[in-house]
Amino acid sequence: MKLDPKPAASEEFTLDCGVFTLSLDFELIWGTVDLFGPDRYRRACLVEREVVIDRLLDLLTRFDISATWCIVGHLFLDACAPDNGHVHPEIIRPRHAWVTGDWFAHDPTASEEVAPEFYGRSLVRKILSCPIRQEIGSHSFSHVIFGDAGCSAATAHSELAACVRLAADMGIALRSFAFPRNLVGHLDALGAHGFACFRGPEPHWYERRALPGFVKRLLHLWDVVTIAAPPVVLPDLARPGVWNVPGSMFYFPMRGSRRHIPLSFRVGRAIKGLNQAAARRRIFHLWFHPTNLADDADRMFDGLRQIFEHADALRSRGRLRVAPMDGIVARQQLGRGADLSEHPAPAAPSMGATVTTQTEDQCRCS
Ligand SMILES: [Zn+2]
Repeated sequence: MKLDPKPAASEEFTLDCGVFTLSLDFELIWGTVDLFGPDRYRRACLVEREVVIDRLLDLLTRFDISATWCIVGHLFLDACAPDNGHVHPEIIRPRHAWVTGDWFAHDPTASEEVAPEFYGRSLVRKILSCPIRQEIGSHSFSHVIFGDAGCSAATAHSELAACVRLAADMGIALRSFAFPRNLVGHLDALGAHGFACFRGPEPHWYERRALPGFVKRLLHLWDVVTIAAPPVVLPDLARPGVWNVPGSMFYFPMRGSRRHIPLSFRVGRAIKGLNQAAARRRIFHLWFHPTNLADDADRMFDGLRQIFEHADALRSRGRLRVAPMDGIVARQQLGRGADLSEHPAPAAPSMGATVTTQTEDQCRCS
């Protein structure tokens, strides 16, 4: 789905210095199970659970970086079971053309111990307990493709309602959203469920031209191999109260044909993006899935370390701040001088829930 034209009353977004934003699509098996079933990426999911999340949280802590974790809602669960024989009857099924059978046919209706690639409540808790505040956002409940014609408004609402309810049970108010497969759709539903922003597609110049898909892929490959600076962005008001914070660059995995692309190309582009953000007072918005670090993990983590070191150096010189997606939007809504320590307000916690109240803007520019 293409983004609709901006509303006439779109606000001007201004920044007082460059911003580094990192968003992570955390989905375990849900991101691929509709295409490949549960077997193909099971190993990568187990590496993600057992190795990647801890290392990533350690690296974010070391460099004082608040990231936005857009988490599939099913991962807030530690178990699920059929309800009168129906799996997740609260979700109105999508009708994606490539799916035969029930959308939840692969859901094991088991527990995190039995089927750890489908559940992640212990990991959500781990992210919440990171000493550097990490924003918890959403990536839909079951990775329904919002931008596909098979996802009705009713399906989108049912997915978002489930996410909001499960997050609230853990004391979390969801503000940021990443669309499954990055295909934007049902923006009105986002606003209705209290979301303030989403990550839109990367605004490459060639995406705005009427070019065949293979030409666009070639142009993207050209950007990668020439280590071209990725786009740096400013948020757009896509709907009243709902901002598009476009991505700048995907930190792509060492997998498939892309394993032949040297790590230095990824790092080089990211460093150019950070420099551009600082020079032009814009946002460099890096994103990936934690699963993307599972292959050749040591090298992929070393690349991230180099990127974070460069961001930290720019920040220490007062040229860049680091902010999660909700921090960018809150700062715009409340004003530059706003004290963000109380924003966004957490949802009312249930018994025993962990409440996240700290919000750090991490701005050292103003
Ligand atoms: Zn389930």
